Amino acid sequence: MGETIFDRIIRREIPADIVFEDEHLIAFRDIAPQAPVHVLFVPKTPIPTLDDLQADQAAIVGRLALAAADYARREGFADDGYRVVMNCNEHGGQTVFQIHLHLLAGAPLGRFGTGVP
Ligand code: 5GP
Repeated sequence: MGETIFDRIIRREIPADIVFEDEHLIAFRDIAPQAPVHVLFVPKTPIPTLDDLQADQAAIVGRLALAAADYARREGFADDGYRVVMNCNEHGGQTVFQIHLHLLAGAPLGRFGTGVP
C-alpha cells in the first residue's frame, strides 16, 4: 500500500496546521482551503479510497464523522452549519489516496452541482 503525504504529516515529517489528534485519527487544515474553514480528518489506518473500506472498518469512518461534528461544536459553527465530503477515485476528484473527510464551513456554501460541464 503506497505512502501518501498524509502519512508524512502524521509522522511530523512535513508541517501541517494540526487542530486535533487522538490514537485513531488526525485533523489538520487543508493547504488549499475551499471555504473559510477547511479541515481534513484522516484516519491513521491506511485505506486508499472509500471503495476499499471493509465492513469491519465502519467505525473508522464513524470516528471521522464524530470528530468533525465535535470540532464544529467546539469551534462554534455547528448551528450555522457545515458540509462534510469524501471524494472517491478520479471522478470524485480524489487526489490523495488515503481516505479523509473534508469539513467545510464558515460561510453559506451554496448547493453543489455535478461538476459536469
Ligand atoms: P482529495 O482531493 O483527495 O479529496 O483531497 C486532498 C486534499 O488534500 C486537497 O484538498 C488538498 O488541498 C489537500 N492537501 C494536499 N497536500 C496537502 C499537504 O501537504 N498539506 C495539507 N494540509 N493539505 C494537503
